[in-house]
Parts: sequence; C-alpha cells; structure tokens
Amino acid sequence: TRKFFVGGNWKCNGTKQSIQELCEAFNAGKNIDSSQVEVVVAPPAPYAMLTRSILRQDFGVALQNCWVGKPGAFTGEVAAEMIKDIGLDYVILGHSERRHLPEIKENDDLVARKTKYAIDKGLTVILCVGELLEEREAGRTREVNERQLAAVKARLDPADWSKVVIAYEPVWAIGTGKVATAAQAQEAHAEIRSWLHRQVSETCASQTRILYGGSVTPENCVELATQPDVDGFLVGGASLKPTFLDIVRTHE
Ligand code: 13P
Repeated sequence: TRKFFVGGNWKCNGTKQSIQELCEAFNAGKNIDSSQVEVVVAPPAPYAMLTRSILRQDFGVALQNCWVGKPGAFTGEVAAEMIKDIGLDYVILGHSERRHLPEIKENDDLVARKTKYAIDKGLTVILCVGELLEEREAGRTREVNERQLAAVKARLDPADWSKVVIAYEPVWAIGTGKVATAAQAQEAHAEIRSWLHRQVSETCASQTRILYGGSVTPENCVELATQPDVDGFLVGGASLKPTFLDIVRTHE
C-alpha cells in the first residue's frame, strides 16, 4: 500500500503575482485527504518561502535542485540545509532538464551525491530518471533507467531508499504533449520496481513510490493511474493551473 503522490514541478515559471494567485486557487480547493495522497509543489527557489507561507499545510513544498554538499563558498547555489531551514521537506533531483540541457549537464554521479547529501540532511528526494527518444528507439530504456538508479544505489545506504520517491520521466514525453501510453509507463515502472527488488530489497520494491511524468493532464491521468506500478505523477505544465487539483484527486 503505497500512498499516491502527486508532485507539481513549476520549473522556471511564475511571478510573485501568478504564484500568489495559484496558491490561493489551490487553497480554495477541498482539503487534501493526507491518508490517501501526498501532494508537493516545487516553485522556483526565489518564491519558495512565499509559496510555503501562502499554501495550506496539506500541501508540501519542494525545491527543484540543490547543491551537492554543505553551505559555503559556492556562488549561486542553494544548500539542502537551507531548504530544511525554510520549512521544506522535499527536493527534486536529477530532472532531465538538469541532466541534459547543455548549459547544465549534471552527470549520474553528481545526481547520486546530491541525493545522498539531501537525504542525510532530512529531505525526501524526488529522484527523476528516464530515457531520451533515441535511447527508447534503440531499445535502451531499461538500461538507461538502471544506469541512473545504479549510480544512486552506489551512494546510498539501503535504509536511505525510504526517503526516495522515483519519478520516471521519459524525456520525449516532457513538455511535448506526447504522453506515454499506460502500457509504456507500466512496463518501465515494473522494470524499475524489479530492479529495486533485485538491487536493494523486497521492502524497498514494495514501498517505493514510482511516479510517472511527461505531459500528464487531468484528462490522461486516470488511465495512467490504473496501472499497478504507477503510484502518482510528477506534473509540469499542468501543475501551473488550478486544475492541477483534478490530478491530485485522480483516485476520488
Ligand atoms: P510536463 O508535464 O510539462 O510534460 O513536464 C513534466 C516534467 O518534467 C515534470 O517534472
């Protein structure tokens, strides 16, 4: 019994005004049944405290990235300690935009080291994995997901996995409107869960939430959520609208 998890990744979007309006729209919705679903939104860092101060407490708030180690002379970076200090409990790490944009190019081991450090500082990590279109077309989806996960495994203690939520986000589905089919999502999620079973533990496999991300909308979320290994969503564009709440309530 894995609690359904819906994340909203706002990416590099918003203004003070638009974020205030969106938070107020979310607050005007029905209370979240926290026994049924965990919901977390990830604003751009400058708006994190504003978001936390406006949103109801039944919403969690995440940052979209953090620095790999302790605070210090790292100009422009945000440390995990700071995320905790402002009252947030989550961070997204290894998002495909951070792995693949030529301006950023985070590698598997950097994502893994960030994951370990953030967990050690008390954060839950939403760890993103997923293949490029050319990798899927070459039949390498499973290999790519497992390579990204293996790098994390090499840095974590087995118990750390209880602080990880995995988001499977096929890069070709992100921001394209080309959502994976329910069967494609289920296949990848089952492969990831099988990897967790073989490489970490049976408990880890049965308890770790595996989210699907990539062009999720209120219209397509219901069918995806029927798949046995789809435990929620990481939503980009559709999390910037009040109807994000329809995705949060997929199961109602
Ligand atoms: P879209 O929902 O806009 O495709 O983005 C998905 C995503 O990258 C969430 O992290």
